[in-house]
Amino acid sequence: MPYFLYKWFSIHPYSIDFSPIREDFAGENLQKSLDKVRLLSKHISRWLHSRVGVIMNQINRVAIVGGTHGNEFTGAYLVQKFAKFPELITRPSFQTVTLLANPKAFAVARRYTDQDLNRCFLQQNLQNPNLESYEQLRAQSIYNILSANQDQRADFILDLHSTTANMDLTIILVNSHPLNLRLAAYLSSLNPLVKIYRCSFTSVAENPFLNSLSELGFGIEVGPIAQGILDATLFQQTEELVHQILDYLEKFNQDKIPATKETLTLYHHLSVVDYPKQEDGTISGMIHPQLQNRDYEPLNPGDPIFLTFEGKTIVYEGKSTVWPIFINEAAYYEKGIAMSLTQKQQINI
Ligand SMILES: [Zn+2]
Repeated sequence: MPYFLYKWFSIHPYSIDFSPIREDFAGENLQKSLDKVRLLSKHISRWLHSRVGVIMNQINRVAIVGGTHGNEFTGAYLVQKFAKFPELITRPSFQTVTLLANPKAFAVARRYTDQDLNRCFLQQNLQNPNLESYEQLRAQSIYNILSANQDQRADFILDLHSTTANMDLTIILVNSHPLNLRLAAYLSSLNPLVKIYRCSFTSVAENPFLNSLSELGFGIEVGPIAQGILDATLFQQTEELVHQILDYLEKFNQDKIPATKETLTLYHHLSVVDYPKQEDGTISGMIHPQLQNRDYEPLNPGDPIFLTFEGKTIVYEGKSTVWPIFINEAAYYEKGIAMSLTQKQQINI
């Protein structure tokens, strides 16, 4: 396949659906099939017209989003810095825009005001006029800014988060798009602190994250850092990561993608584990001291995971080794999540 076609399909591999032709072309009603071909070519022509930038193998617009959770200051202050000094995120071949996603929650240094904004992006909710919470309306407004308008839509969305867990610089993939995988591999080759976590959504329709608005792009979780504070080292590491991503996308547009390894180590989501609880639903134990801060390290059957308030150790009773992450994330107590379990995988890219 010619390189420009390969690159085009690597941006939008699932964009054109030829099934209407395939289904009927062999059928007895040739006229009906020809009508479908005409209709489809008109559709393709309109599609090509609206996506002229993509056809030119270009990423035209990149969105850097911060403060999706109002008490995660690293991303919130970083996007405000970028908004103040736009030359830092300016690259020759595409436009970069910034967005403080949840200004009301940021103003009061809380994760959200009514509900978690990063769970408000399910497709059926983005166009539902009956939803009225601040965050749901904000999600609809962000959808309109970043995704709804074909001419203005962001081709690549970077959503900056922070975590109280010991996650270093984690890239959160919500799909396995080839460009996202290659970029993740490139970033992990530059910096051993970069880890790749892949969520297990089977389709975009079940993805409630802001990143569901664009096939290209991902979330970044940096930590450990307490909610509502800044840490200069982590701030600078995150800023450097953003620059590396923008530089990579610039090279992509120039057909000069840096070479990367053929394999990528990623941590694929398996399940979540709740805290031990009493009958009334209150927690009865804590993360075991031997597990605290051990994100991305192997957890074997029989290893301690919780310590009850009475001092009893609770062990992991799974059948095989897993790699826990988001261990003791402060925001997840209310969600009933003490940690997420992942499977460490090597994949070819
Ligand atoms: Zn967050």
